[in-house]
Amino acid sequence: MVKIPVGAVFGTEKDFLNYVKSIKFDAFKPRFCVLHATGIDLKSWRTHTMGERIPNIFAGYKKMGWHSGPHIFIDEISFGIGCPLNVSGVHSPSWNDISFGIEQAGWYWPGRDVYPESIQNRAVTAIAALNKLMGVAADTLKFHYEDSATTHRGCPCPPAKPGEKPIIDKAVMIELIDKKMKGI
Ligand SMILES: [Zn+2]
Repeated sequence: MVKIPVGAVFGTEKDFLNYVKSIKFDAFKPRFCVLHATGIDLKSWRTHTMGERIPNIFAGYKKMGWHSGPHIFIDEISFGIGCPLNVSGVHSPSWNDISFGIEQAGWYWPGRDVYPESIQNRAVTAIAALNKLMGVAADTLKFHYEDSATTHRGCPCPPAKPGEKPIIDKAVMIELIDKKMKGI
């Protein structure tokens, strides 16, 4: 496997997919992906590049005493690597040892960011690629708020109330991921 430092950024889907395909698991045996959002609105996210963001975010985690963070970062123009993909990260208390964490730029709460297609497409690509690497189906996807041990009840977006449309629709994501898995 190619050694990729924290903060490595892939600008193209092709380079990202090639990297994911090169991963070999050892002790870490993930079984699904967990979707997150930073809660930093896109307007402020854009003031730094992905390559600057990830080391800063990881420095913050270190201060909190975390040994790592989520595996993949997604923004409007790139894929970034946080925690190396062959070891467990820190992103969802119940699932750190058995899942990949996918962190999306943006704050997907009512009145905040609208979920951009550019981020949705990259999240779908990342999860599809990781699912294929793990050998699992699209419907294994979890949203962070589904972890009963987390306090992040609004990550990656607040759960929709009955009759409301969620800002990030899990059923739609699963459908798109399933389709993408067949094409890569
Ligand atoms: Zn989260």
